[in-house]
Amino acid sequence: MELDLSWILIGLPLAFALGWIASRLDLRQLRLAHRQAPRAYFRGLNHLLNEQQDQAIDAFIEAVQNDPDTSELHFALGNLFRRRGEYDRAVRVHEHLLARADLSTADRQRAQHGLALDFLKAGLLDRAEDALRKLEGSPYEGQARLARLAIYERSREWPEAAQVAEQLERSGEANFSIRQAHYRCEQAREAFAQGDTDQALALLQSTVRDIPQAPRARILLGQLLLTRQQAAESLAVLRPLFEQHDPTAPLAAASLAKAAQACGQETQTLALLQDFYQQQASLDVLEALVTLSSPAGIVSPEARQQFLQHLQKQPSLLAATRWLAAAPAQEAVPASVQKALDTATRPLARYRCAACGFEAKEHFWHCPGCQAWDSYPPRRVEEL
Ligand SMILES: [Zn+2]
Repeated sequence: MELDLSWILIGLPLAFALGWIASRLDLRQLRLAHRQAPRAYFRGLNHLLNEQQDQAIDAFIEAVQNDPDTSELHFALGNLFRRRGEYDRAVRVHEHLLARADLSTADRQRAQHGLALDFLKAGLLDRAEDALRKLEGSPYEGQARLARLAIYERSREWPEAAQVAEQLERSGEANFSIRQAHYRCEQAREAFAQGDTDQALALLQSTVRDIPQAPRARILLGQLLLTRQQAAESLAVLRPLFEQHDPTAPLAAASLAKAAQACGQETQTLALLQDFYQQQASLDVLEALVTLSSPAGIVSPEARQQFLQHLQKQPSLLAATRWLAAAPAQEAVPASVQKALDTATRPLARYRCAACGFEAKEHFWHCPGCQAWDSYPPRRVEEL
């Protein structure tokens, strides 16, 4: 009996000790498995902080393999691939996330947004548009609509752009009325280019009526009416720009002068232009003044004098060159000198985008360089 009792007394603690050791071994293994993913994750993070993206991606891939259900790692990988320009891999990661049935609604929307950005960055605009449409009703709705608007503007799909701009305005994103006027003006230009001047006219007339604060439609309408030999109507449409001292009026100065000449309204228009010029000494308005003061199409000595008066106000190579070019035969500079001056002043007569610096012979309402709207001041480079 004594022997048995002593065995029990020794055996019990031993059994406990063995059990404890076994349980610690299991726990350690379990912890090791669980720690592998975070360790790889932190290694990836460390590489990222050291701007070692290749090593970071390797570490993240390893972490994802250890724990395929981790959505955060997938998002991190997807963003990394996109930033590196590896769009097909970024798309695969986001599509893999979207295919998972256990993903929460918030993560699903986030993955859909990531996928849309992948397509956008890759320049796959059709697929980007599809992906962006699926974000309607999500927290990314506003961003997605703005991105779709940029796609439609880029691909010149004006009715679609107008529709999205309307949705954005209704949701209180911003005021898009001037932009809506631009879309209609773009459609009018396309109609005119295709020979459908009636359609262009209807579009511009409705825009002037509905969005009177947008000067572009008024300017285009005045120019269109002039090409249709409706000079009096053109004059009536363009005059308010100068009466109200609209900053964009100089863009319409040449058309206003032509319309005034065509319907014999030179004197009144001259007074209107002079009043505008006193407030804003624009080169385009100066040219229109000279045109109107030269009835036979030849610059008279009095009209020529206006270039000199402009030069007294502000130095301008363009005005000086125009003054020289309009000199009477006995005072004319040699043709070669005039040609050299004309060539040298040509860049000064361009318009320049204030957003990206893109210069062009004609004024753009929508910069072909940076896609910005209303970024071209209505003044020549020399006047900036
Ligand atoms: Zn630009």
